[in-house]
Formats: sequence, structure tokens, C-alpha cells
Amino acid sequence: MLQLQEPITVLKGIGKQRALDLQKLGIVTVGDLLGHYPYRYEDRSHLKPLRDMQEGDTETVLGTIVQAQDLYPRRGLKLLRVSLRCADGNAVLVWFNQNHLKGKLQPGLQIVATGKVGKGHVRQISVSDFELLEDADDLRSFQRIIPVYRGTERNSSKAIRNYIEQVLQQEIAGLDEFLPEEQIGQYHLLGYREAVRQIHFPDDWQQLNMARHRLVFDEFLELTLGLQLHSIIEKKAGIAHEKAEPLAGRFFRQLPFALTNAQKKVILEIKKDMERPTAMKRLVQGDVGSGKTMVAVYALLKAVTGGYQAVLMAPTEILAEQHYLNLKGMLEPLGVTPELLTGSLSKKEREVVYDKLRDGNCKLAVGTHALIQKQVQFANLGVVVIDEQHRFGVRQRLALENKGRAPDVLVMTATPIPRSLALTLYGDMDLSIIDELPPGRQAIKTYCIGEAKREALYHFLGQQIAAGYQAYVVCPLVEESEKMDLENATQLADHLAANVFPQYAIGLLHGKMHPRDKADIMEQFRSGHLQILVSTTVIEVGVDVPNANVMVIENAERFGLAQLHQLRGRVGRGSSQAHCFLVAEPKTDEGKRRMTVMVKSSDGFAIAEEDLLLRGAGEVLGTRQHGLPDLKIADLVHDVKILEQSRQLAAEITEIGLEQPQYAGLRQKAERVYQRRLQLQDGQI
Ligand code: ADP
Ligand code: MG
Repeated sequence: MLQLQEPITVLKGIGKQRALDLQKLGIVTVGDLLGHYPYRYEDRSHLKPLRDMQEGDTETVLGTIVQAQDLYPRRGLKLLRVSLRCADGNAVLVWFNQNHLKGKLQPGLQIVATGKVGKGHVRQISVSDFELLEDADDLRSFQRIIPVYRGTERNSSKAIRNYIEQVLQQEIAGLDEFLPEEQIGQYHLLGYREAVRQIHFPDDWQQLNMARHRLVFDEFLELTLGLQLHSIIEKKAGIAHEKAEPLAGRFFRQLPFALTNAQKKVILEIKKDMERPTAMKRLVQGDVGSGKTMVAVYALLKAVTGGYQAVLMAPTEILAEQHYLNLKGMLEPLGVTPELLTGSLSKKEREVVYDKLRDGNCKLAVGTHALIQKQVQFANLGVVVIDEQHRFGVRQRLALENKGRAPDVLVMTATPIPRSLALTLYGDMDLSIIDELPPGRQAIKTYCIGEAKREALYHFLGQQIAAGYQAYVVCPLVEESEKMDLENATQLADHLAANVFPQYAIGLLHGKMHPRDKADIMEQFRSGHLQILVSTTVIEVGVDVPNANVMVIENAERFGLAQLHQLRGRVGRGSSQAHCFLVAEPKTDEGKRRMTVMVKSSDGFAIAEEDLLLRGAGEVLGTRQHGLPDLKIADLVHDVKILEQSRQLAAEITEIGLEQPQYAGLRQKAERVYQRRLQLQDGQI
């Protein structure tokens, strides 16, 4: 009996060289081979009549070889031309530069061939795959839905198909059903062994769908349970913060506005988490401008009240500095003085902060990645808050957490991901959503305009500035080059200053600037000394200047939806009507679609879903970044329904207990997911 763990060299036709080559596809064992799913299928179950074939389509013909000819139509080009007699007429097969096949293609033999249909009166097919038929059995095995695999030079799709066929013809240990019969019935699943067979050699399209459904379901189930193992292990011990919270109480009483209900709800969730003796792991998701900072302040103050230290980490210096100034202004009156730690402090300044953190004198640290340096040590870290978490990897998050002994962890993100997705991606965290904006905000008016309207745009901008407001003008990254990027922004700033708005102060912000100069320019803009801020995308994240109410995005078609939404979120933070101009002349359908979505929608979730559809989950979310193993067959966007069902079963199983004997096989699979995730965290991010 064949075992899944056996090396593929046990198969006929696979020697050392081939095995080495298959390793490139991640195939080492028989089990890996079976897990190498086809990426598409060709339907040869119904042969189309020759006269119905359309030029450019991929079709399959069956016929008897009449003659094979070598042709040399041009230097360097060799053509093998085979004429064929089929049941409903004559056809021609051609191969390019494969004339060694000629010896095999003897007149009188039956052949089935698949390929692209060419021009011409007589059907001509450029062959991509063929098989010579020796008897009726061969024909039956060819006339079906054929799997097509990702292959290599030495191991073609066809070779892989043959190996897999070889495996499936034998008795295999390890393909046993690992879900209880009852649950298989309840969720209408195909049996596991049958699913593995049908995914490779489907009897028909319906069976294929069922097989895929089962395997996608399994993949999600293993992932969900695997991530839960992770959180069960990690959630063991933590700090039980005090229930009394005099500092937070005083802070929220003196705020000039009332918290939104969404903010209150999330704060309550955090309160419960922090008072519990297990470590909090909570993700707060809230659209740009939803007021995540207030929620962070609550967690920070709650820890400080009990004598613990608190830390807030942000992805950019600008954002860290802004949080620092903001917190300093709000919290110093309460006797909490934050310290700022970023890469641009001098060595001496840094040493001072290190000392204060180590001896516990400083209760609140705000900073960038500089916080996860080795030299940073805390006396008793009680809470970690990470802002704009999508900019950090799992590893960075863990590096900061590990500076304390199981501190509570709060991560905040403005990347709106559909709930079911977020639950999977952050399966080891609890999720809070701030689904409400502070009152009085007017929806940002968004327009997509072409060059022709530029003058009108500047006219409007001038009016807004004359009325006392400020504006951002953002230039995209051109051709992935920071230098070009800078040139564009510089030129535009110069042009605006010299020719369009000589009467106003215009600042320039770009990624190549020294962090100090960046902070300086930002401060001038915040304080109103600058009326217009021209920038590259460095302002994308988190910056808060309520008086700025116009956002101009140049070459907007070059930005992705998520980025456009983030950029637009820089305005509309005060009570005046905000405007966003997308200067764009999109050429592609996708570009046009993106502009339309932005003009129509201001809902971060709707935009995110659209983004997922346009670009796919891997690209939008960066699955690696989130420490997720790559999904082999499931698609996070299109398979969300299956995801929800499998989450439901995962919950039922957790309730019953994954350690129960009927789940032994499943538990093993979940553990493998968990191990892979740990490896990812240890070495690869
Ligand atoms: P984000 O979620 O994008 O981080 P911020 O925390 O920066 O949002 O908040 C955006 C703006 O809204 C800030 O100027 C903040 O002071 C203000 N704000 C936050 N909560 C409220 C509220 N409940 N009512 C009115 N304004 C609020
Ligand atoms: Mg923020």
C-alpha cells in the first residue's frame, strides 16, 4: 500500500533528476504530488464537429494520421505538419520545432490532439497536447475532462498527470475520511478520498465542483482551527488591569466632544479584555477618521493607572511624531508625560529615553520601529498599541510584545476588510469594529477630472484657500522610481508657487527628506503657516489636519483603490465640506472602474470589497505579511460563502473539543498549519 509520506521516487518513471526537478514545485512526497492541484481543465468529453470550431479557440480532434511532413517555412523555423482524417472531414495538425516527433506519428495511427484552432478552410490545429491511441481503452481515458498542471521543463503537465494517475490507481493509505459522517452530511460534502480523485480526474463538471468545494472547505477549516490552536496557546496568562480608572475617567470627562456609540462599544470591549487575567489580543478596525486614537488613549491610560508602562507604535516618523504631540497635549495635564523614540533622535537623546523606559520613570512611549531595537527595555510593559497595523509584519508586532511579559495588545487598522476575511486573517485576535464616524462630518465630495479642467480646479482651490482652508496636492510614484517621484512633486510645487499661487505659502514633503525636515514641514502645515502641501504619498497614513479640506490627487489612475481611499481620508476631518479631486485620464477599464468607485462611494468597506474583486486577495492583503500560509486551492474573495460555512463547523468542533478521538486526523492537519505559521514568524518575514 502506498503511503503519502513516501518519496515520489517510488513511482515508476521518477528518478533522481526528475525528483530534484519536481522539488521546484514543492513536490517531494506522494502526498505533495496529490496536493498539486490542476490549475485548469480541458474538456475533451465532447468533441466538437470540425465545422463548428472557431478560430482562436482551443479544441480537440480525433482522427487517423494520413501523412506527416517536415516543412521549413523560414530560417530557424521547423514545422511538422500532419494531415488527419476525422469522422466529419479532414484536419491538419501542426507542431513548431518539434520535428523529432515525426517518427512516432506513423500513417494509420489514431491520434487525439488538443490545441488552438487556426485560420483557413481546412481546420488547422497548433497542437499543445496529444496522445496516440492504441485501443479503445486509451480513447476512453482521453475523452474526458483533462487536468492541466503547472509543470517544469523536465516534468510537463502531461508527465505530472501520468504520475498522479499512477498514484490514484494504487491503494493509498492516508486519504481516509477525517470528518465524522454526520458532519459530512450536514455540510453536504463530498467524501475526502473521492474529492482528491475528482479534483484530478473529474467525471464531469458537477463532480469537479463538488470536489473543489470539499477541498476549499477543508483548507479553510484547517486554517481556522490551526490559527485557533495558536491563540489557545498564546492566550494563557496575562495582566489583569485594575477596574478603577481615574485617569481615563478624567480624560474623557474633559473632552470637548462626546464619544460616538461605536467608540464607546469598542472601549467597553477593551475594558473587559484588559481586566481579565488573560492577555488581550484585539484588532480594532475603523475607517479613516473614525476616531481610533481615542480608543488607543483609553487602553494606554488604563495600563498607566495601575503603574504599568504603555507603548504606542506607528509606522512612520510623521505619524509617530503627530501621535506624540497630540498625546502630550492631551495627557500632560493629567501628569502623564510621553517620550518619543524614533530613528532620527541623536544617540544621546535615545540613551536618555532608553534609561527612562528601563527604570520605569517613563510610563508612556510613542515611536516607530525604533521601539523594537534590542536596546529598548521596559520595566513593566502593560499594554502595546500598534497603529496602522497593515504596515507592520507579524514579526514586528511580536518583537514589541516580547518586550513585556504577556502585555495586552491592541492593533488598529484602517484597512477595511470584510468581516469574515478579517476573522480568518486575524484568527488569533478578537475583532472590534468602529462602524460610525463622529457626527457632523459631511461626506467628502469626490470628482474625477481630466487635464482640461485643471484651470477650473486651481480657481476652486484659490477660493477655498481664500476662505481660510488648506489643501493637499499628492503626486504618485512614477515608474517605481523615488527620484522621478521626487522630481514630479518638486516641479509641481515650484510651478504652483511661481505661476499659480504666488500669494500663498506652499510646502513640499517627500520620502527622501530628513525625518526632521518632514516633521518641520508637517508642523508648518498643521499650524496653518502653509496653505498648500505638495507631497508624494508619505502623507498616506494617519495624518490629521482638520482645517485641510481639499485633496488633489495627481495621476490618480496610478493609485490602487485602498490607497486612494486612505489619501482621501486626510480631508473631511473638520466640520466644513471637503472635496477630493482625482486628476486622471484612465485608459484601461480597470482604471476607469477604480475612478468610478471612488466618485460613487465613500464607504471603506465597499471600496475594499471592490478592491479585492479587482486585484485579488493575495495582492491586496499581502497574505505573507499576515503570516498566513499560502492557500492552495481556496480563494479568499470568491470562496467567502464556503469560508463562512467552514467557520461554522470549526466553531462546532471547538465546542465539542478538537482533542476528541473523532477529530484526530483533523487535529493533525490543523497542527501542521500552526507549525507552518510559527516557522513563518521565526524566519521568513
Ligand atoms: P483615525 O481613526 O483615522 O485614526 P483619528 O483618531 O485621527 O481617526 O480621529 C479623527 C479626528 O476626529 C480627530 O481630529 C479627532 O479628534 C476627532 N474625533 C475623534 N472622536 C471624535 C468624536 N467622538 N467626536 C468628534 N470628533 C472626534
Ligand atoms: Mg489614526
